[in-house]
Amino acid sequence: MAHNEAVDVVLVGAGIMSATLAVLLKELDPAIKLEVVELMDSGAAESSNPWNNAGTGHAGLCELNYTPQAADGSVDIKKAVHINTQFEVSKQFWSYLTKKGTFGSCKSFISPVPHLSFVQGDSGVSFLKERFNVLSKHHAFADMEYTEDKGKMAEWMPLMMPGRSPDEVLAATRVMNGTDVNFGALTNQLLKHLTSAPDTQVKYCKRVTGLKRNGNGWTVSIKDVNNGNTREVDAKFVFLGAGGAALPLLQASGIEESKGFGGFPISGQWLRCDNPEVVKQHQAKVYSQAAVGSPPMSVPHLDTRVVDGKKSLLFGPYAGFTTKFLKHGSFMDLPLSVRAGNIGPMLAVAKNNMDLTKYLVSEVMQSMEQRLDSLRRFYPQAKAEDWRLEVAGQRVQIIKKDPKKGGILQFGTELVAAKDGSLAALLGASPGASVTVSIMLELIEKCFADKARGEWAGKLAEIFPAREKVLETDAALYRKINTQNNIALELVEENSETPSYA
Ligand SMILES: Cc1cc2nc3c(=O)[nH]c(=O)nc-3n(C[C@H](O)[C@H](O)[C@H](O)COP(=O)(O)OP(=O)(O)OC[C@H]3O[C@@H](n4cnc5c(N)ncnc54)[C@H](O)[C@@H]3O)c2cc1C
Repeated sequence: MAHNEAVDVVLVGAGIMSATLAVLLKELDPAIKLEVVELMDSGAAESSNPWNNAGTGHAGLCELNYTPQAADGSVDIKKAVHINTQFEVSKQFWSYLTKKGTFGSCKSFISPVPHLSFVQGDSGVSFLKERFNVLSKHHAFADMEYTEDKGKMAEWMPLMMPGRSPDEVLAATRVMNGTDVNFGALTNQLLKHLTSAPDTQVKYCKRVTGLKRNGNGWTVSIKDVNNGNTREVDAKFVFLGAGGAALPLLQASGIEESKGFGGFPISGQWLRCDNPEVVKQHQAKVYSQAAVGSPPMSVPHLDTRVVDGKKSLLFGPYAGFTTKFLKHGSFMDLPLSVRAGNIGPMLAVAKNNMDLTKYLVSEVMQSMEQRLDSLRRFYPQAKAEDWRLEVAGQRVQIIKKDPKKGGILQFGTELVAAKDGSLAALLGASPGASVTVSIMLELIEKCFADKARGEWAGKLAEIFPAREKVLETDAALYRKINTQNNIALELVEENSETPSYA
């Protein structure tokens, strides 16, 4: 086995998370030596690929599951506000890179697409109205519009209104400044930018197969997937940005903090339409409510997607079950992740989540006609021949020890870091790519704490003039940063508040 030279940082996986962290670290310390190791033959081949995720720039504008309703009818907006400001942090980083001039065009990865919420029935309408009343008082959502008027809805969603019964009870909200993000294009742009810097390497068709403690750092074993050759690289810091496959690598590290975690893979499918006659009638991401008992990521939505300059429509997701942790993974992924330390939490989750199991079974058993019926709740006149089924990316939800329940299933993301800050892994999938930058800043503050407070503080303040906490409360600053970001990312024209749709 070849023993290679040492680097400062090894990043496992070439998805949006590793690509963002690598570029951020290089901005903070241009002398840092780093290597990205990817098992596929290109970047963004798993969840970050544009057709494996929905490309929603999650900002809490339309996702009804971010604003839960309590039994007394009140609506809690904390999560929506937090995700909104996290997205502004992502936009600050993309704006900073775009302004550098060497990063390439932002039009290849971000497009303005209005974000709408759409509800049916009396209880849906009263929820949406209350949500609007509370949210629109917050500066981040001040531009939100609400309507129960079907004429107005026909203007907002022309594809979705014909063919409905006149007595259907409906309501919708709209925010014009939503976005569609091609996270695959963004990832590859970040990777290209990275390789133009000295002391950085992105290696494809290489699988990380093991991790061993080595003094204060790690020895990483890497296998060439084409010829089977292996080599070892020493690194002071390792990031496990392997998406669904981060869990087994975290377990292989043996760090104390990895104990008790398990993973629950949920696969997904979409209906996709490329017929230009249909596509041109819908310019929006329209989110509705999830069915009772279904997990939050199954919220149905009908989306405009902008990928490689072309528009399509995506509807779904339809959930499914598989034991693979990656779309290109192995059916043994789940069984091989079972350990003495996580079998308790995993069994507790299986026992306590029968609703989810039932939901997944019903989703897997659906026929194409049943899938089209779900689509017709949104688009009553949908024709089968315009739509085809596509497989989405894998989400591995986190299973964690819980003192009361034994184990819980968590639908967010969790950054797990070694106490000495020499290794970190990202588990979970939601809200995902949109908030990558905030998650990677959290990693830097945890694992590079002294530098973040010391020699990197000035550069961090230059790239990020306002972080999420202050944006949540300072309305004037929010408006200033939001406007600057929207102009830099060409989402609005200078001196105009109107989004510049393609
Ligand atoms: C159906 C679906 C819809 C989604 N919709 C949205 C959305 O609308 N908006 C949003 O913001 N987010 C969304 N997400 C979430 C988002 O896609 C993910 O959070 C994000 O892409 C994760 O990026 P990542 O870099 O962690 O993982 P990935 O993009 O999966 O990258 C991990 C990489 O690691 C590589 N790898 C794995 N194991 C190894 C190994 N041992 N050695 C070397 N390389 C390895 C893989 O090949 C892969 O390239 C969605 C996800 C799914 C599945």
